[in-house]
Amino acid sequence: MMIRFAIVPLLLALNFSMCKRNETASQNQPAGASSPAPGATTAGGSPGVAPVATPPKITKPVVDQTAQTIIFCYHLLVDKVRYPGTEITPAAFEAQMKELKDRGITVISMQDLLAWKRGEKNIPPRCAVITFDDGYKSQYEVAWPIMKKYGYPFTLFIYTEGVRGGSLGGGGAITWEQLADMRDNGVDIEAHSATHQDLREGHTITLASPGGKKTRTKLTGTQYEQWVQNEVVGCKQLLEQRLGIKINCFAVPFGNYNEHVKELARNAGYEAMFTVYGQPITFTSPLDSIGRYAIEANKPKVFEDAVKMIGASAAGGPAVAEVGAKDLATQPADGETVRTTLPLIKANLSGIGQIEPGSVQMRVSGLGVVPATYDAKTGTVSYQVTQKLREKSCSVFVSAKSQGKKVEAHWTFGIEQGAATAPAPAKPTPLQKK
Ligand SMILES: [Zn+2]
Repeated sequence: MMIRFAIVPLLLALNFSMCKRNETASQNQPAGASSPAPGATTAGGSPGVAPVATPPKITKPVVDQTAQTIIFCYHLLVDKVRYPGTEITPAAFEAQMKELKDRGITVISMQDLLAWKRGEKNIPPRCAVITFDDGYKSQYEVAWPIMKKYGYPFTLFIYTEGVRGGSLGGGGAITWEQLADMRDNGVDIEAHSATHQDLREGHTITLASPGGKKTRTKLTGTQYEQWVQNEVVGCKQLLEQRLGIKINCFAVPFGNYNEHVKELARNAGYEAMFTVYGQPITFTSPLDSIGRYAIEANKPKVFEDAVKMIGASAAGGPAVAEVGAKDLATQPADGETVRTTLPLIKANLSGIGQIEPGSVQMRVSGLGVVPATYDAKTGTVSYQVTQKLREKSCSVFVSAKSQGKKVEAHWTFGIEQGAATAPAPAKPTPLQKK
């Protein structure tokens, strides 16, 4: 609670600057929409206690849902390229970093990208995230100084046995000390398995015995489960314990995975999973298969195409008028905590004005765009959640077009931990003891 109140002034300041931009838009809102909430009703109850001022309404910053990000994946930086699939020269790498700057593509951190996906933070309309895989010392010695020069944040995806001293960590590997140094200077370090192999059951893998002997084998059943557990969960725990950090991203080796691996990663607490199938990341891109563009020395076109993919989008996006969730009589209400992971979500748009048919859209955090129903007669948009909400809080975004303008409202409600998975009753019913 303390933290929430501490950030209120910041949010207010943010809202204030946004109000200025949407001045004309807010004039279209129904009268009373922006008047302060009546607070006197709750304050006068206990005698002898000074009336408490109505706390300012907590509103999250409005995130630009039209923003797009491209994520790049690099490996080794070497002066003489011998394996173009994973290598690039420092000069070519730096030229690409410069091109992002020249094209007005902002390099943001992975954590900012995820905060945006959660609806918590805005990002510029066109962004890029830079990642390096596998943990090579050239990432510390060569890439890092270049990134510092441009002031770019970045993420390292590390497979733990590939760190210097591990069973796969040779002379070119990054060391734990280098990782700690980067961590201390704000570099994001995330997980990339333990031994960097195909994580799907029944695929040929190499096992190293403590003596150093290596065996090619195919694991199934319990043996496979034990092995894959260490690859997905063990590697996260090791990185967290060795470096004292929190890991929330998992880059899948070779991008090879299936539902079972995804499930393991989700249960281990990973927020996002990454592949190497590059594509622009939008607000609704699923978090369990985020594509990255793997940059290879002999395929400069991959970088150029990626940059072009988001280069065409108009900066800023269309003007959006923001409506307070309170004015839409939302269900669940903003800030409410519900006892079901399958709530019925509703909002009444009748106060907004004439709604253009077919323009109503509902997005739910963790689900993306949902097939909500809009009843033009009552102005109500509703959606019965059918897929269990996994997070402790849920953000809903409702948007519609009115008089050619996009109008949007968003609110957040909480989900009680250990909540029932039964759908919420349509109308509140008194609790019954069985
Ligand atoms: Zn890798």
